[in-house]
Amino acid sequence: MRKLINWSVGIYFIYVLLMIWYLFYFVDTSIPKEFKGTKADPATFLTPRELMLSEQYSQMKNLLFFLAVPYDWLLYIVILALGLSRKFQEWATATTKWPALQTAVYLFWLSLLVTVFTLPLNFLAYRLAKEYGINTQTFSHWLKDEIIDFWVNYVLMFIIVSVLYWLIRKFAKRWWFYAWLLSIPFIVFLAFIQPVVIDPLYNDFYPLRDKELEAKILLLAEQANIPAEHVFEVNMSEKTNALNAYVTGIGPNSRIVLWDTTLERLKEDEILFIMAHEMGHYVMKHIYWGVAGYVLLTLIGLYAVNKLMKWMIQRWGVCLHIKNIKELNSLPLFFLLISLLNFSVSPFVNAVSRYEEHAADRYAIELTNNTEAAISSFQELARAGLSQVNPPYLVKIFRYGHPTILERIVFLNTYEQQRETDW
Ligand SMILES: [Zn+2]
Repeated sequence: MRKLINWSVGIYFIYVLLMIWYLFYFVDTSIPKEFKGTKADPATFLTPRELMLSEQYSQMKNLLFFLAVPYDWLLYIVILALGLSRKFQEWATATTKWPALQTAVYLFWLSLLVTVFTLPLNFLAYRLAKEYGINTQTFSHWLKDEIIDFWVNYVLMFIIVSVLYWLIRKFAKRWWFYAWLLSIPFIVFLAFIQPVVIDPLYNDFYPLRDKELEAKILLLAEQANIPAEHVFEVNMSEKTNALNAYVTGIGPNSRIVLWDTTLERLKEDEILFIMAHEMGHYVMKHIYWGVAGYVLLTLIGLYAVNKLMKWMIQRWGVCLHIKNIKELNSLPLFFLLISLLNFSVSPFVNAVSRYEEHAADRYAIELTNNTEAAISSFQELARAGLSQVNPPYLVKIFRYGHPTILERIVFLNTYEQQRETDW
């Protein structure tokens, strides 16, 4: 047991050192020679100070990301190896006879412990964003969001874990398949209620406030056959200076949401380009593809988790204080494996997402035909979020669901050149 913890902590620290070396010393994020001086070169649209800040801020943010993911794995291993998970289960069985309540009690202690140990990293990320003027939330506001997060996750986890362990106990061999079948309506339901139930817990949503702009946006939406009542504005300026817009929800709840920061900081033509990009997602039904993708990945994931969990319990069950997969105290192992699998497929998921984002960019430029506005909106996006125009390779494959700003502007440049030669 000691050995397992020592090894895990040791490997984690070596990994941390490697990541620091990679992000701060190894990578070269300067612009490739052929794009120097073009509109994709941040030196042409950022001040030297903005350029320096965006480099610093991105480096730190990326480091925090790469520290946080395996930190969760380490935490789960330690929770198991120290017998804490077993302790929580004993407390739960001592509290009540009802299995549902036992799950609630066990899950409460586990969630509380994980939250307490991950809060410092979350706080660092908040402080960093605040330091660089990206996050504008007060501490109490930030903490409120963390508390909402805790309870939303707790309720969702309670439902999922109760059903999951009931299935594991009832169908030792096929539980993963039945869990997958049940996950389909659950995923669809979550996608359905997300914009109307979950998102409003964090922010205020309302119809566009600028009526003149709304008329122009709705005209654009009409061209793409998007019903007017599906466009919303969200009050984000009290939390962040970054810009964003997105498509969410399915069926009657599907909507395009524009952050108020985007509406405030971008010019009208730029907003219309961003809007056209979101309409591209809407028209190409990317949300539905996303839901289908989740359903497929869940099947593969649950199958793999079943195999891996049983194998690991057989091999390291004593060290991890787990006798049987049916015991609730095997849950941290379940979370560990899900998180590991999630991380390992994330380059693939991100690649699919980048492909969709590129398609939406193409849709938007074909609809609006204003390359200048499109390019300046990306430049403003980089400035407002202090994002790297040309991020390191590992950062791109693990973190970027969008093409890099460099790739997006280069695409627009070549698109315009092609159009000119076509004439
Ligand atoms: Zn997009």
